[in-house]
Amino acid sequence: MAEASKIEWTDSTFNPWIGCTKISPGCDRCYAERLVTRYRWTLWGPHGDRKRTSAANWRKPIQWNSQATVFQAEHSHRQRVFCASLADVFDNKADPTTRADLFELIKATPNLDWLLLTKRPQLMARFLPKDWGNGYPNVWLGSTMEDQERYDQRWPLLRDTPAAIRFISYEPAIGPIVLDAGGTQPDWIISGGESGPGSRLMQPAWARAVRDQCQSRGIAFMHKQWGNYPSNPIVAEDGKSAKDAKLSDHDGKGGAILDGRLWREFPRH
Ligand code: SF4
Repeated sequence: MAEASKIEWTDSTFNPWIGCTKISPGCDRCYAERLVTRYRWTLWGPHGDRKRTSAANWRKPIQWNSQATVFQAEHSHRQRVFCASLADVFDNKADPTTRADLFELIKATPNLDWLLLTKRPQLMARFLPKDWGNGYPNVWLGSTMEDQERYDQRWPLLRDTPAAIRFISYEPAIGPIVLDAGGTQPDWIISGGESGPGSRLMQPAWARAVRDQCQSRGIAFMHKQWGNYPSNPIVAEDGKSAKDAKLSDHDGKGGAILDGRLWREFPRH
């Protein structure tokens, strides 16, 4: 389960285990659940397993770490590893030994930047390792906040947890978000609409508002994708067909252009 990723904001993905439970409106159309259920890798949900991935999979980050000089020369940045696309690192059903092994692996791979993204920031304090200190230098800690309610609940938890980089995944965006006006801000926000069957619409105004807030606060901003063409402003605002929109905007799912440009900023690290 470790491979070059098609996700715009990471280079690779790593899943220490597979399996999770829906806990948030953003989980309603969970891609991981669909994939895992289709291939019967494990039973999804509270009664399912958290199935540890193979030893060969666990060796991949060690290999990437050893090839970091080559990666840097080719890509002009450190290799980013998203953990986890088919699980949640802070899931309370996960095996504590496997999670401890994950943090040992992260420490053993200082040439990689690990992007830990969770919908359970309330459990970070409980499950981060004892030697976390001010945050491992190679970990970017992130939480999904798909609407204002989730932002209000989760940002204070992430804000108050030490980390080298803090980021917000505003994806799938299912409502507008107004960031706190003052105080500590995230280093990075990734926005994106929902993709896949039955996806909910993202309003272009929500992406604009978050972009503008990022710009005025010095936060790096990435608009990953609209998720579906009906959410794309070429369709939603300009009245063109999805087919036409696809011809002029084909990044990500549903295109990604916002007001004439792709937003692909990353935090300084
Ligand atoms: S937390 Fe993530 S992986 Fe788990 S059910 Fe929700 S969307 Fe899926």
